[in-house]
Amino acid sequence: MSARRAAPVLPGATLGVLGSGQLGRMFTIAARRMGYRVHTFSPEDDTPTGQVADREVCAGYDDLDAVRDFARGVDLVTFEFENVPAGTAEAAAEHAPVRPAGAVLHTTQNRLREKSFLAGAGFPVTPFAAIRDAADLPAAIAAVGLPAVLKTAGWGYDGKGQAVIRAPAEAEPAFRGLGLPSGAEAILEAFVDFALEVSVVAARGSGGFGGLSAAEFPPIENRHHRHILDLSLAPADLSPRLAREAAEIARGILAALDVVGVLCVELFVTRDGRLLVNELAPRPHNSGHLTVDAAATSQFEQQLRAICGLPLGATDLLRPAAMANLLGDLWDEGEPDWAAALAFPEVKLHLYGKATPRRGRKMGHLTALAGSRDEALSRVVAARAALVGRRVQAAR
Ligand code: AMP
Repeated sequence: MSARRAAPVLPGATLGVLGSGQLGRMFTIAARRMGYRVHTFSPEDDTPTGQVADREVCAGYDDLDAVRDFARGVDLVTFEFENVPAGTAEAAAEHAPVRPAGAVLHTTQNRLREKSFLAGAGFPVTPFAAIRDAADLPAAIAAVGLPAVLKTAGWGYDGKGQAVIRAPAEAEPAFRGLGLPSGAEAILEAFVDFALEVSVVAARGSGGFGGLSAAEFPPIENRHHRHILDLSLAPADLSPRLAREAAEIARGILAALDVVGVLCVELFVTRDGRLLVNELAPRPHNSGHLTVDAAATSQFEQQLRAICGLPLGATDLLRPAAMANLLGDLWDEGEPDWAAALAFPEVKLHLYGKATPRRGRKMGHLTALAGSRDEALSRVVAARAALVGRRVQAAR
């Protein structure tokens, strides 16, 4: 059965989410608002998604009988993080449609497969080479040049398992430092001297009902700290030509991958004004969280509409906005001062219901709305500082 022709899944139906983090939580909130029921499946309990879902199933992704049982109890399965094993998606697909399809996961959960797909389909990427063992390094360096970034090919995200290599002698220690199990691959990418990082969150529906069947949010600008997304701003400071090109690239990728759902394309904007695709995420993305408060439709409602075969919603940005991630580090000195952040009337607080703050763990985010993106940025940064500001003052 073609995913694009399938009958719509209407409000009242039950949706299954593989994974149980904050993306599933915000998806579930959007789905329940529109009258759906949601079940979630992951190896943990009392999860960000489970806390707001109708049902939380706690089992391993490799427990395929539990996966099949879960899929039998829902009308449609989706996922909220891309590292669900391919076999899990296949087992679920025996009993319910899975959107996006498992094949999309297969391509995007390995950097080498992803970059090879992108390059093969003619999308712009930085030069790269496969590293199967340390002996491949000299030829790879000769091919892509230095400086370069060495990354694990599989299961890496948020900059875990990455090293910048500036001289040939650094290559082998960096490769050993990745600690790859034997047989696991790495990728060497030419370092991009970028002016800006942007993302485009795009959706593609099944087109069954008329209305929009492909749509993208305006490009969002992203700033990272220690390889983890720190701040997102919208609209991105891009020329109309580059904004159009970024949107065309995103639409092209969704079509080439035959995605039914939401996919985020992360791009570098080089100093000489070119776009290079860095990474794909076949789901809503941290950078798109500001759409919840600032856009006509949130990325999560858009995911719901796309996978359920409903027309897509408008993607206009209603107000300039900025988002600041709240990592577990903010809890170092105790519970942050929520009231101090909320004293900024145009700041919205989102917490994910995680009981244990850990350094680098995404616990929540703040979104600020304002008349301009720069004003939104200073507002969200000030609100985040206020979360710990009282204690900083008291300590002086
Ligand atoms: P990734 O896990 O690939 O999204 O990388 C995380 C962050 O590391 C990116 O958002 C960039 O800030 C940086 N980065 C990754 N790849 C490169 C590259 N080839 N050149 C320069 N910076 C990079």
